[in-house]
Formats: sequence, C-alpha cells, structure tokens
Amino acid sequence: MFEELSDKLDGVLSRFRQRGVLTEPMIREGLREVRRVLLEADVNFKVTRDFLGRVQERALGESVVKSVSPGQQIVKIVHDELAALLGEGRPTIKWVSSPPTILMVVGLQGSGKTTTSAKLARRFAAEGRTPMLAACDLQRPAAIEQLQTLGRQIDVPVHAGTFGGDPVATAKAAVDAARAQGCSVLIVDTAGRLQIDETLMDELRRVRDGVQPQEILFVADAMTGQEAVRIAEGFDQALDISGVVLTKMDGDARGGAALSIRGVTGKPIKFVGVGEGVDDLDSADPERMAGRILQMGDVVGLVERAQRTMDMAEQEKLQEKVLGKGRFTLEDFLTAMRQIQRMGPLDQLLKLIPGAKKLKIPGNIDPKRMKHVEAIILSMTPEERENPKIIKGSRRARIARGSGRPVSEINRLLKQFTEMQKFMKQMKGLGGLMGKGGGMP
Ligand code: GDP
Repeated sequence: MFEELSDKLDGVLSRFRQRGVLTEPMIREGLREVRRVLLEADVNFKVTRDFLGRVQERALGESVVKSVSPGQQIVKIVHDELAALLGEGRPTIKWVSSPPTILMVVGLQGSGKTTTSAKLARRFAAEGRTPMLAACDLQRPAAIEQLQTLGRQIDVPVHAGTFGGDPVATAKAAVDAARAQGCSVLIVDTAGRLQIDETLMDELRRVRDGVQPQEILFVADAMTGQEAVRIAEGFDQALDISGVVLTKMDGDARGGAALSIRGVTGKPIKFVGVGEGVDDLDSADPERMAGRILQMGDVVGLVERAQRTMDMAEQEKLQEKVLGKGRFTLEDFLTAMRQIQRMGPLDQLLKLIPGAKKLKIPGNIDPKRMKHVEAIILSMTPEERENPKIIKGSRRARIARGSGRPVSEINRLLKQFTEMQKFMKQMKGLGGLMGKGGGMP
C-alpha cells in the first residue's frame, strides 16, 4: 500500500529531517519536490495544490523556521495535513438502535463489490454482530452464486434473489428476512456495470429508496487511479454515497486515488481492501494511513489484524510463550506460522511495524510450503522440537528422509525459526497492546 509514494516522500522528507536549519527557500524547494511526488503518484492536481498550499502556509510560519528541529516539524505538518486530506478522525458506521443497520454496497463491475460485501460481513461478525448478506445483483447469475459461496465460506446467511428478478423487491425481502432472523446488520450487494450508466443509477436509486440504507458505500478499485476518483464523483452525484471502500490497495496502485477521493467528493474512505481473502479489509483511519505513507508504521493496524484473524486461545498460549516465561519451540513455530499466515503476507505485516523495514526477514510464507514445513516438523522427535539446537547433520538427514524433503529445506526452516524468534522479540514491545479492543465504533 502506498509503497512508491511512501518511498519517494520519505526520500524528500528525510532531507528536511537531516537539516539543522531551514530557510524559506529550502522549504519552498522541498515542497516543490513533495508536489512532484504527489502528482507522480496520480494525486488529483487540485487536491495536490490545495494540500501544498496548506502545508506551505504552516511550514513558513515563523515558529517552524525558528524551532529547534524545523525538519521534524515539517514532517509533522505533512503528516497532519495528509491525515486531514484523508478524513476527519476514525471513520464510523451509523449503527441504528433498532436493527438491522442497512449498508448498501455499490460500484462498477469488477471493482470488488461482492468480495467487499463478504469482507464486511466477516468483519462485523468478528465484532460480535450478526450480519446477513443480500444478493441483489440479479443480472449476472455468477454474481448471486459468488456471494452464496462467500457466505458459506464465512458462515453468514445470504438472502438471494433469482436471476432476472426485481432487485428492489429482493432487497426489501432481505430486510424482512434480516429482521425476522434477528440479524443486526444487512449488507446489500448491488449490480454493477463496466461504466456508469443511467439504467444502473436508476436501479440503484430505487433500491436505495426501497430499503433506506444507513450507509451507501462506494467500492473503488484503487488500481484505476484518477478514473476511480471520477467514478466516485458520478456515484456520489447520483446516490449521495456515505463513504468509500478502496480495494486492491495491496496491488501496485500509486496511491493517488486514496489521496484524491475525499478531496474531490468530500466523502471519507472507510475501509481499504488489501487482498483477495475475506480477512483482507482494514479500516481506513486517516492518521494511520498518513503514518503508513510517511513510513511511521501502523501498530494499531497490526494489532487489529491479529485480533481479527487469530484464534484467541491459541494466541494466548503463544503469547505466554513469546512474551512470558515459556519457551518458544518448533511446535509453537508451526502454530505461529499458521496464525501469521492467516494475517496475510509477512512482508506486508512488517510494514506496519515502525522501523521494521530495516529488519531482514524473508518476505512470504508460501502457502504451498506450509505442508512441507508441517511434514518436516512432524518428522522431528519431541525432544528436537523442544530444543532445535540439537538438530545437527545426522538428525537433519533423518528428518529429510522422514518428511521426504531435501536437507536444504530443513536447513532453511531452522534458519527461519531463528529469524522468527527475532521477530517475536520485536513483537514483545507490542504485547501489551494485544489485549485492547479493536473494531469499528
Ligand atoms: P464485483 O464485480 O465488483 O462484485 O467484484 P468482485 O468482488 O467479484 O471482485 C473482482 C476481483 O477483484 C476478484 O477477483 C476479487 O478477488 C478481486 N479483489 C477484490 N478486492 C480485492 C482487494 O482488495 N485486493 C485484491 N488483490 N483483489 C481484490
């Protein structure tokens, strides 16, 4: 997420940071570079101009130049203004007191609407709510099936209309069904087209008027850059959306859409999609996103992700081993690997830890390798799992035979285990945060 933008901004801003004294021309020059970086990242021209206007005004303020660490101050100003650009405070959902709260999910075909609907349901369920999904894209049989499959996968009921049926009637029936089944939140997945057209907008307006949702979330594909901003404007004009979900932020999107959408529509980004899996949805806290852009890490995001995906009992056991007195063994390593794998690619997780970029940890845990790792660990004696240090040459050969994996792989695993121990030490500092509640207010 924001990788390139983030690296380039870091480059420009680190020059600020290193300077003991800053003059006005230096600030102007530096901010011109910030401007170039933003435009290169596909941030809307007007948004960039307004943003830099505000940063410059504050940066040239007397207190900055005369302060003890002007460079740091400027970084802070950029951070604050980035956060302000992305939203005001942590985005919330308007929960109603008499359920169900209704969320309507809209967007173009292929933007990630159906996936996002399931991710939202998954998230709300993890927060202790009882979600229901409504399949109201009745123009494509595949869309109905897709939502039903996702519903089964995450164990959330799906109220589906029939192919070619009336989406408004289906949506209304879903509200009744949700109420009858005591579901606290209904997520209505709607039809999309490849382009904005009046027929689609008309259908969406009728669904909206039929169910009167508390939230209309527009799903935008971040990979489409400026196009996403333009389409967001179109949907907002037609439907008066309440927020945006930016998907595919795990890809090589340049970040411009994220920084421009709110500036242009005035509507906050509420969630970001960071992968194809049902857990790959993060809440879009402006402060934290700004922190990520400026490589300050996002510890809260990391902790939230852990809470959403980890088995609590397993986590507690692990935590005791890692943070407490217990010894971290290869068996725990296996458990931990499974849990971390559920959280997402390790290299992405590491980006959430301040300063972790400098840590040399191998990027991914390949899902296919998990089975091999399991076979290797299971081919060890309990003593070896307990105390991997004793695994020398002949033991390695025996384990290789037992697991059917080459010795080089055993070596690599043991090395990774040592690195994991290092990683766990890094996590130590975060241990205290693990217990705190997350989720959407
Ligand atoms: P819809 O037509 O708007 O309902 O789009 P889908 O939900 O079917 O998603 C279209 C494609 O985008 C699917 O292959 C999804 O797996 C993929 N997708 C959705 N969200 C994300 C995301 O956040 N990251 C990535 N990498 N892929 C996503």
